Amino acid sequence: MKRNPYFSQLSPSYLFSEIKDRVQRMHEHHPHISLINLSLGNTSEPLGCSTADALCQAATDLKNPSSHTGYGPEGGLLILREAICNTIYHNAVSPDEIFVSDGAKSDISRLQLLIGPMTHVAVQDPSYPAYAESCRLGRSSDPSFFSYLPSPLFSKPLLCTVPDNAVLFLCSPNNPTGEVFTHAELETLISHARRHQQIIVYDTAYQAFIQGDYPRSIYEIHGAEEVAIEIGSFSKMAGFCGLRLGWTAIPHALRYTDGQRINPDFCRLVATVFNGASLLSQQGGIQVLSLEGQKECQRQIDLYRKNTHLLQTALVQKKISVSGGRHAPFLWVKTEHKNSWDAFDFFLEKMGIVVCPGVGFGPLGEGHIRICGFGNPASVAEAASRIDRL
Ligand code: PLP
Repeated sequence: MKRNPYFSQLSPSYLFSEIKDRVQRMHEHHPHISLINLSLGNTSEPLGCSTADALCQAATDLKNPSSHTGYGPEGGLLILREAICNTIYHNAVSPDEIFVSDGAKSDISRLQLLIGPMTHVAVQDPSYPAYAESCRLGRSSDPSFFSYLPSPLFSKPLLCTVPDNAVLFLCSPNNPTGEVFTHAELETLISHARRHQQIIVYDTAYQAFIQGDYPRSIYEIHGAEEVAIEIGSFSKMAGFCGLRLGWTAIPHALRYTDGQRINPDFCRLVATVFNGASLLSQQGGIQVLSLEGQKECQRQIDLYRKNTHLLQTALVQKKISVSGGRHAPFLWVKTEHKNSWDAFDFFLEKMGIVVCPGVGFGPLGEGHIRICGFGNPASVAEAASRIDRL
């Protein structure tokens, strides 16, 4: 077999592998230093009790011959799809427009199969690296097929650089900057997309962290159902990073440039490449979306917010330029006079804190690092006091 030539378009090592290697080297050379990892967007709080109980019950059901089930429906259990429509979308979306998945990241890749190799894809810069990486793996990175869009991207001239019929990957709240789109900004983006027959893929993995009057879903904006696919995740909302559960919404009103509907194609694609999300995770997800489950999630989110605030205060006191932190558990730190990886090494060597180099999120991330508010409160407090002692 010949190597897929698109592998050579990926950066030599995926961001988090390079971080792991550097941390490993630090461990080997300084085994006595206890490192605090604030680099990964990995939840640290245990599952809510009622959700854990629902998972145990689902396992018990699978153990009994009378309640055992094999494969579930590829698009997800109807009761979960209904709960997503109810709780997340306030019924602005219907259950047959929801496709339950094993996480947002898998759906980002599956969407590349839907988009195909000949459509131009534009990705916010900086943003979650999976958009650009999954894009590069399946298509030429020639500028006629791929471009970065500097973020924030609300100016019309900037949007006009994206060709007609293109797909735009947007993320709100943005990972890594924590920026969130306003209603007015989304209206601009949607009307621009309608005029230019573009499709927006809107990733809401951190929507549960949004505070104040900002859209939690693109479907809050009139007309979005004609131009937008939305990706959601249970990972950060409910601590499902390891359990794996997410969804993609493909409204019936969404059409290709030739007028055909996109939803049936995604349905076909899911049936071809996926046998559905784990039934255990789905039962957990149903509980997460109940009143009790949502209260448990809120407690976790409040804790991550406190963590983020503590770190932000420590950085601000050191006169370090920092943004984000309000709508996502991320602090976006400007690394004066240092490039991202030098700043990464500085935090690692001087404070034993592992951060994420901003350049891993796109070229405009250079000169920044991302610090996460996930982590148990004791280690976050220790990180804050290390920053304080700097
Ligand atoms: N989308 C964004 C913006 C993310 O930051 C992440 C993970 O960090 C994901 C999606 C992945 O979500 P999941 O765990 O559901 O695959």
